[in-house]
Amino acid sequence: MTLPTRDVTVLGAGAAGLAVAARLKANGVDCVVLERGPGVATSWRGRYDRLRLHTIRSLSGLPGFPIPREYGRWVRRDDLVRYLEAYAERFALDVRTGTTVERVKPGADGWSLRLGDGSEQSARTLIVATGYLHTPVVPQWPGLQTWTGTLIHSASYRNAEPFRGQDVLVVGPGNSGAEIATDLAEGGAAAVSLAIRTPPHIVRRETAGWPAQLNGLLLGRLPERAFNTMAATMARVEMPDLRPYGIARPAEGLMTRLRTRRYVPLQDVGIVRDVVSGRVRPVAAVQGFTATSVLLADGTSIQPDAVIAATGYGTGLGELFDDPSLFDDTGVPLVHGGAPARPGLFFMGYDVTLGGMLRQLALESRRVARSVSLTGHTQGD
Ligand SMILES: Cc1cc2nc3c(=O)[nH]c(=O)nc-3n(C[C@H](O)[C@H](O)[C@H](O)COP(=O)(O)OP(=O)(O)OC[C@H]3O[C@@H](n4cnc5c(N)ncnc54)[C@H](O)[C@@H]3O)c2cc1C
Repeated sequence: MTLPTRDVTVLGAGAAGLAVAARLKANGVDCVVLERGPGVATSWRGRYDRLRLHTIRSLSGLPGFPIPREYGRWVRRDDLVRYLEAYAERFALDVRTGTTVERVKPGADGWSLRLGDGSEQSARTLIVATGYLHTPVVPQWPGLQTWTGTLIHSASYRNAEPFRGQDVLVVGPGNSGAEIATDLAEGGAAAVSLAIRTPPHIVRRETAGWPAQLNGLLLGRLPERAFNTMAATMARVEMPDLRPYGIARPAEGLMTRLRTRRYVPLQDVGIVRDVVSGRVRPVAAVQGFTATSVLLADGTSIQPDAVIAATGYGTGLGELFDDPSLFDDTGVPLVHGGAPARPGLFFMGYDVTLGGMLRQLALESRRVARSVSLTGHTQGD
């Protein structure tokens, strides 16, 4: 079944999709938002229970309607979901939930979308906002298929309850991995290890009330070398030396890692305390598995009951589009955040900055909406 052509279609009712839909509306352009989940903010609904934003409320809201003050400085997961629901209502956005787009191709009339129910739909202008952190990635470690213990990706972790009394290995010292390790240690796991391949840059979430996000925003304008030196100096001053506990100092500067690998620093919400107290034990990188052991890069092995792979995400865009020339080798669109990648095709929500993704995608939503409004993909073109 082929459905009628729509002028502007947005893919994804996360923060990015909602923000751009609201901006378009403000510019007099109506759009429909297609969302595979049962409601807006599907990604946030599925994240772990203790999660709070690590960016401050006032710098995490979307255009035209800030996050309410009563949600506090560090907004809880459920409050962010509530806010995004209220945002969609406030601007009366046309969100079609339970609608998965499986494939996108250039069509006679713009872009042709194949939906999960097998129907087809066209869009003269398509804005893809399906999330930078879209598809959980678990490395194909040698021997993994023989492993008899539990293995989940951090995207499936909710709380420590299922791991009470267990020996758990968390793989990857990013923000999710470190916070999940702390959650497990507080929530009754018998032992918690954290496997580290690349030593993390660790920053305090705030120092004397001054949030790390603001440092990132203000100092992020410095030349790379100066920023790297400043970040390393600050880390030495405000963080204990974790080398005696098995966490080396990062060899590469923070800004260099951000530029080359879209890396954001680890914000300490308990991991430093837990490593120093021995509640979380850093171990070497994972190299492989046997039926009952995890083999580590330093030649040792451990026998956890469960492994939680906080090993990141892919964009999933390669599965949506036939055309690999749209993306770099990590699956991120080569053109995103404002200009069209192809006539009538926009990507947003793929810019990783020290100022926070929510703040960034709010800025992008204005640029994309302006670009769409200017290219005039409206009815009757
Ligand atoms: C644990 C964690 C903590 C974070 N904390 C912060 C923070 O403190 N501050 C911050 O700024 N950022 C944070 N982020 C980054 C965060 O992901 C972004 O800020 C923001 O949620 C991204 O919004 P988005 O709309 O681009 O993507 P998403 O929120 O992922 O939304 C994408 C939407 O698209 C839908 N979708 C995907 N594919 C399809 C399809 N094929 N068809 C239809 N619908 C589809 C999804 O269901 C989803 O609703 C965090 C991320 C994680 C994982």
